[in-house]
Amino acid sequence: MTIYSGPVFEMARTQFGIIADHLGIPEDERARLLYPKRAITVSVPVHMDDGRTEVFQAYRVQHHLTLGPTKGGTRFSSSLHVGEVAALAIWMSWKCALAGLPYGGAKGGVACDPPALSRRELEAVSRRYMQEMIPFVGPQTDVMAPDMGTNEQVMAWFMDTYSMHHGHAVSEIVTGKPVSLGGTEGRREATGRGVAYLASRACDAIGIRSQDSTAVVQGFGNVGSVSAYTLARRHGVRIVGVSDHTAALYDPAGLPLDAVERHVAEHGVLAGFTNQMGIAPDDLLTRPCDILVPAAVERVITAENAGKLRCRILAEGANGPTTPDADAVLEQRSDEVFVIPDILCNSGGVIVSYFEWVQDLQQLFWSESEVNDRLERLLEGAFTQVTRRAAAERVSMRTAGMSIGVEKVRAGKQLRGLFP
Ligand code: NAD
Repeated sequence: MTIYSGPVFEMARTQFGIIADHLGIPEDERARLLYPKRAITVSVPVHMDDGRTEVFQAYRVQHHLTLGPTKGGTRFSSSLHVGEVAALAIWMSWKCALAGLPYGGAKGGVACDPPALSRRELEAVSRRYMQEMIPFVGPQTDVMAPDMGTNEQVMAWFMDTYSMHHGHAVSEIVTGKPVSLGGTEGRREATGRGVAYLASRACDAIGIRSQDSTAVVQGFGNVGSVSAYTLARRHGVRIVGVSDHTAALYDPAGLPLDAVERHVAEHGVLAGFTNQMGIAPDDLLTRPCDILVPAAVERVITAENAGKLRCRILAEGANGPTTPDADAVLEQRSDEVFVIPDILCNSGGVIVSYFEWVQDLQQLFWSESEVNDRLERLLEGAFTQVTRRAAAERVSMRTAGMSIGVEKVRAGKQLRGLFP
């Protein structure tokens, strides 16, 4: 037992064990690679609108500082646990290393339910969280970003709180900020755009045309909605299913995506769109489609449903959507299902966050087309490396991608040595 014990951390640990075995990493090196450098837990007291004081539990986990500052999102979710945060930080490390970014992984968050908070309460939670984290973060130490339940406005409050403390604007403390505060063009869309780009590359790899393909997207937040409309508008894919935590829609003839987007912009959720296309949310993942994009929460593809997936490409927009047991099933089905693992598939977000940090440090800003061109170049390089390695070593795409990431972190630790 460690403070991290829990199902999501177990998943990150099991995945790492498989890679460590594959790479022949000695037992006594493994703990140093796996366990986080720091885990910070704080209480966040907030005056609520009804006069009560509520105390929220909050975390920041920094996995390793071997290759540069840590980097990672901030999740506001009522069920948040430090083990989940640690797992997400570990996955960020492998993801950054695979993409060649000079970062270790981090993740943080507050155990709260954002839709249940007023705007004033959300601002108070955000500011007090950043205030508590000031001793532990910084542009050269740990750079925050959005994740589930947080957005550009929350990043603006984080940046303002940190900047007020330092007496001048420190835009490089967070990424995913509004462009007017030093955010970058293209960050909001970066993760979904990357998911769609890689899904179309996977179509090329297995010899199907994206224009003739269909897709199902689970989750209709930042990643899911942008993945859906980029797949549709840029790559000509027909979107046949979408879901969020309130509803699931499926229509083999194709969903009216513009109308769905307008409904979500107005109401915040899919519920209430139309009953005619509604299906049970659990059924969505196993409906027939060419491209399946889980873009919501962890552990939705399990040993129970992995054998029933009827997609050709599994494009993992979410972090950790597939359990190791499900991976074992999918490895048996590798001729039928091409997996783009999360650390590759959703890396567009951290890649453009890196671009944002670089632009802030230099105070020299790029056009959206420059951002997107550079994004596609890095994604293409990572995709090529992973597919080649998977073929050369006859391993899954996940094993290939994680092996590249773990090897880079390990090499950095070996070269720097162990202090003192
Ligand atoms: P978000 O808060 O914008 O959206 C989450 C969506 O998932 C919402 O539509 C919500 O209703 C839906 N959802 C929640 N539980 C669900 C369930 N059980 N079934 C179906 N839908 C459900 O979050 P996001 O930023 O889009 O992040 C989604 C996933 O992508 C997370 O795993 C996150 O870690 C990962 N990710 C995000 C980014 C980014 O840049 N935002 C980058 C990399 C990875």
